[in-house]
Amino acid sequence: MKNIILIAAPAAGKGTLSSMLVDKYNYAHISTGDLLREASLEKTSLGEKISNMLKNGELVTDEIVFELLEKRLSKNDIKNGYILDGFPRTLEQALEYEKIIEKLKLELGIVVVLNTEYETLKKRIVGRVLCKKCGAVYNTLTGVNTPKNEHICDKCGGELYKRSDDNEESFKTRYETYLEKTKPLIKYYEDKGSLFFINGEDKEQMLKEIEVLLHD
Ligand code: AMP
Repeated sequence: MKNIILIAAPAAGKGTLSSMLVDKYNYAHISTGDLLREASLEKTSLGEKISNMLKNGELVTDEIVFELLEKRLSKNDIKNGYILDGFPRTLEQALEYEKIIEKLKLELGIVVVLNTEYETLKKRIVGRVLCKKCGAVYNTLTGVNTPKNEHICDKCGGELYKRSDDNEESFKTRYETYLEKTKPLIKYYEDKGSLFFINGEDKEQMLKEIEVLLHD
């Protein structure tokens, strides 16, 4: 399968689309946010440093991000195709990534931008809760995927929790960072001719639109 880079504002639907593609096409899902959240749990000064940057909604330094990413890209499960969710976030990262794929002999694939309205993003972030046990994602504000009980996972009975950066203040910082640092990547990939847009408002529609690109 073609490798996919997803570019989108926070909570635009990158995680949801990725999990549908993992289920249907066996893609490897590489979320730099997930890699960083995992690293932030380590009881070391580096873990603590990452944890603080995540909490404030700031971008984590490139050195840390690249170390985690290169390690992940060396695993065998990416051979069938992988989705980059949340990376690259800046032009510098996009340029460095090209060196990495050349070194590891990987293909760039397609770059997909998810278009989602600001108000939808905010509700998705502020209302988002996740299951500690199985990772299922719910929302208590949007009316889509509302858990029956706001503390318990419908699927496995695990405890639901909020990400430390899923609050309105951190959302604003993350959204501004997206506009300032990540959005310019759209022009960069457009000029390279590998860019496509899909609508991130509706789950099924998103899948249909990306499938057209994958089978093209
Ligand atoms: P996400 O799960 O993609 O919403 O990312 C959550 C947080 O992880 C972001 O707000 C950043 O603090 C950090 N992060 C994720 N990906 C990157 C990246 N490529 N570069 C720097 N920081 C990142």
